[in-house]
Amino acid sequence: MSKSYRRFDTLAAVKDSSFATNGKAAAIPADVSKIFGENALHLNELKARLPKPIWKELKKTITDNAPLNEDVADSVAVVMKDWAVERGATHYTHWFQPLTGQTAEKHDSFITPNQGGGAVAEFSGKELIQGEPDASSFPSGGLRPTFEARGYTAWDPTSPAFIVENDNGTVLCIPTAFASWTGEALDNKTPLLRSVEAVSQQGVKALKMFGFDNVKRVVSTTGFEQEYFLIDQEFFYRRPDLVVSNRTLVGAKPPKGQDLEDHYFGSIPDRILAYMMEAEKELYRLGVPVKTRHNEVAPSQFEIAPIFETCNIAADHQQLTMITLKRIARKYGLVCLLHEKPFAGVNGSGKHTNWSLATSNGMNLLEPGDDPHSNMVFLYFCTAAIKAVHKNQDLLRIAIASAGNDHRLGANEAPPAIISIFLGEQLEDIYKQIQNGGAKSSKKGGLLGLGSPVLPHLPMHAGDRNRTSPFAFTGNKFEFRAVGSAQSVSFPVTVLNTIMAEALAEMNSQMESALKKGQDIETALAAVLKSTMKDCDKIIFSGDGYSDDWQKEAKKRGLLNLRTTMDALHLLNSKKNVDLFETYKVLTKRELDARLEILYDIYFKTINIEGETTENLAQTMIIPAAVRYINELAAVVERGKSIGLKVDGTQTVIKKVNDGLNKLVKSLEKLIAANLDLGGDEIEQKAHHMHKNVIPAMNEVRNAADELERLVADDFWPLPTYRDMLFVK
Ligand code: ADP
Ligand code: MG
Repeated sequence: MSKSYRRFDTLAAVKDSSFATNGKAAAIPADVSKIFGENALHLNELKARLPKPIWKELKKTITDNAPLNEDVADSVAVVMKDWAVERGATHYTHWFQPLTGQTAEKHDSFITPNQGGGAVAEFSGKELIQGEPDASSFPSGGLRPTFEARGYTAWDPTSPAFIVENDNGTVLCIPTAFASWTGEALDNKTPLLRSVEAVSQQGVKALKMFGFDNVKRVVSTTGFEQEYFLIDQEFFYRRPDLVVSNRTLVGAKPPKGQDLEDHYFGSIPDRILAYMMEAEKELYRLGVPVKTRHNEVAPSQFEIAPIFETCNIAADHQQLTMITLKRIARKYGLVCLLHEKPFAGVNGSGKHTNWSLATSNGMNLLEPGDDPHSNMVFLYFCTAAIKAVHKNQDLLRIAIASAGNDHRLGANEAPPAIISIFLGEQLEDIYKQIQNGGAKSSKKGGLLGLGSPVLPHLPMHAGDRNRTSPFAFTGNKFEFRAVGSAQSVSFPVTVLNTIMAEALAEMNSQMESALKKGQDIETALAAVLKSTMKDCDKIIFSGDGYSDDWQKEAKKRGLLNLRTTMDALHLLNSKKNVDLFETYKVLTKRELDARLEILYDIYFKTINIEGETTENLAQTMIIPAAVRYINELAAVVERGKSIGLKVDGTQTVIKKVNDGLNKLVKSLEKLIAANLDLGGDEIEQKAHHMHKNVIPAMNEVRNAADELERLVADDFWPLPTYRDMLFVK
């Protein structure tokens, strides 16, 4: 049979699929506290189980970042093992975050043979503290040639261990850092923890000046908003591009996209809601404080957001959230797509990363209060953030750079690649006052009446929101909106903490010298704020970030506009950035160089795989579909003529399809050539080749393929279409 009914089989399978809700077992109990954190070894649990002196030692490390007293490890190991074994664990793993952006684990059993020929479960302090997973195939950017492949994982006592359950067993997961045998970071956690220390030191110093003598630590807080797509797995398996690249490499836009915006905040379909509830339940059990869920702008797009936590735990929980979203989806016959742009022509997915600093006893340093103009601490930290962002536009851009995110940034759905700050009306007004000699008042929000006596009056915020800004002040925190949905939040937050440490350090020393000269704190502060803003105020922008005018205006202001990943990456190890990361002991030059090499490598491999997959799809699925259709049409022409019919209509169609096919084959030749050529031996050259040659060739093939999709008979088309994937639930 020449026809392909594969698509219809798939549709039928989706239509007939019934999903199990997994019944009561999957339901969130009305009293969430009954399950919250039951699969994580939390502080209270540790405290209850450990001998008092040991607990006291450990707590110093967890809450005050005191150096780990390794003598506690044996006791903690026993407690951890007992806790996990009670929950059915037979194995443990050092859970780490290599520079692939994913997580990694290698399981070891607790089993230790004993003399009588039996075995017991054992776990020592040594095994807790250090692992040697070998794991020589993770990217190391040259820090770790395979012939000296030792790599170590080291227990991170500040992030709770947890268990992962499977129907057939349970594994204890211990959050760890991952480093080469020379102690160089090969992961995302190590620099994040180092940056936490850097910003804490400078923050504490600043707070001392303002009279907060008893603040021991400043912590960095993070709350993320994860966007994702869900599609039926029947479609997924029929799309080699989704299976291999996590995004569709061909696919014509459906007649109905997101134009009606009828999906956004719409009621959540049953199957999806059942899925969300089970995923949330699993996250609660792991101690991830999930708070909101809703439909997003694009059809089949959704969002989940937890309550913020300290950044290290938030980063681990972010990884667990991504893993859980994917894992639970399969139980409902769905696939969760975390890619930044799985479908062209509808919105992509981001991961707004909310960030602030707080004292260890919970005072938010970016809380403006009722009278921000006279809130010295707030103004100081907010100004430091502005200074940090202004100076390090390049680093923030690099922190969100990836092949996937390139599809989003600046595409009228996500902030532009230009880094700027939105402050809102109230703060902008205060900064104007500061620049004109001193802030005397704060604009008030007031109350909003809704025109009906039965409706309450709402307190109105003193500033509106701006959805087009990459870095927006949202009430009591900054929201880094340009982060990509598939990314780890670790590096973006590492950058934020580090640049904040530097800005605070510079302002601290200006303040100190003014105070030494005998100035009072208000006068010194006013001068420092004013002089800082003089340099930095061009980073503030409250207009429409999507507009062309902003591109021009930003250029005039001298702001960076690093449009793509390949425009941005080379700046990572500039002198400015090496100095910054070395001064604050977050990354060494060697570690930065390695990271850069890995970023190039990931970019290269991503596009290389996409290029070859596009070639393969065109060659083995799309061309055959067009050829078969032409064959059928040609038969009609021939037979039609033989019985004396006018066949102009069919001939017109054949010509169109044939033109489309010719166009596809021609562009495919270019892509094949670009795929064969790797662009050189150096990884940077290879990445540039992908950017300059493979991506344009891929786009041409896609255009031709999408034109054919609109022409070829539906029952010949071998791939699930956008209409199928996005609208059939
Ligand atoms: P918005 O409506 O501005 O997006 P939400 O209150 O819904 O604000 O918060 C969005 C995210 O920001 C949540 O994950 C929330 O926990 C997080 N968030 C709130 N306050 C802070 C803070 N001080 N530091 C870091 N994240 C925060
Ligand atoms: Mg938000």
